[in-house]
Amino acid sequence: MTPSLDAGFDLGGTRLKFGLIDRQGRLVLKGQVPSPGSMDELLSVLREVWGRIKRDAPGKVRSCGFGFAGFYSRRQRRILQSPNYPSLDGFPLVPALRKFIDVPFRIDNDANMAAFGEFRHGAGRGARSLVLLTVGTGIGSGIILDGKLWQGEGGFAGEIGHITVNPDGEVCKCGARGCLETEAAAPRIVRRYQEMTGARDATDSKEIFRRARSGDAAAIESFRKSAAYLGIGMGIVINLLNPEKILIGGGVVSAGRMLMEPAVQEARRRSNAPAFAGCRIEKASLGNDAGLIGAAAWAGIEAGGRA
Ligand SMILES: [Zn+2]
Repeated sequence: MTPSLDAGFDLGGTRLKFGLIDRQGRLVLKGQVPSPGSMDELLSVLREVWGRIKRDAPGKVRSCGFGFAGFYSRRQRRILQSPNYPSLDGFPLVPALRKFIDVPFRIDNDANMAAFGEFRHGAGRGARSLVLLTVGTGIGSGIILDGKLWQGEGGFAGEIGHITVNPDGEVCKCGARGCLETEAAAPRIVRRYQEMTGARDATDSKEIFRRARSGDAAAIESFRKSAAYLGIGMGIVINLLNPEKILIGGGVVSAGRMLMEPAVQEARRRSNAPAFAGCRIEKASLGNDAGLIGAAAWAGIEAGGRA
């Protein structure tokens, strides 16, 4: 018997990732292409990739999930606003996709899909509640409560990257000031280091990490500050939700203990002891595949299967 498979797409500002998972969440096919700029191009690329997926699939594709960057409205079934992908804004996605996606499909926000992926098939497997924080050029997040994705009233829940952790901090692209994302994500680690040292030659967080490891005090301090803000954010999450797990993913996690240890210490100081004690803070395990695996799994549960 051919296994039934679920397809997932993860559309970010730079890459469109896609894949197929089996019932155990294993990727049986995956690929990526550069994100097209306009909606016309995006739809034609999606149509072409969808054809390729069905042709190469080692079984029947029963559903398809999409994780799009931006605020996805559950009621209007469209992205209201996408900071990294403006052509999605207000576009009627469902009728456009229905023209060529010939299986049941579902759409949600990309960070929510990543959290759902970790919950079903990654480091969050078996947990009843978790929060995923993906720390990279921004901070994406999603919340699982009582074994379900918490979408909120309109679909806009889980924007932990935009809670205020520093009222006097820098202006965020969301319009607020001192968001967790502006204070803790990779670009801030770089800018802070540049401000402290005047060095303009260090332009990505990997280079700052390399310098920190070789003992550069300003690089260590820049990581420590971002880690502290990440800890403040985690403390808020722990006090608010009392989750079983907080999973940390994204490029900055490769800094390992330099980021995680001070972040966890700060979270301990900022949260209630019993809730902190009951929360395991761990690395996410699906890396860049979390979003497409989550989108596929999300569509798959609707299509009637239990993974
Ligand atoms: Zn913000």
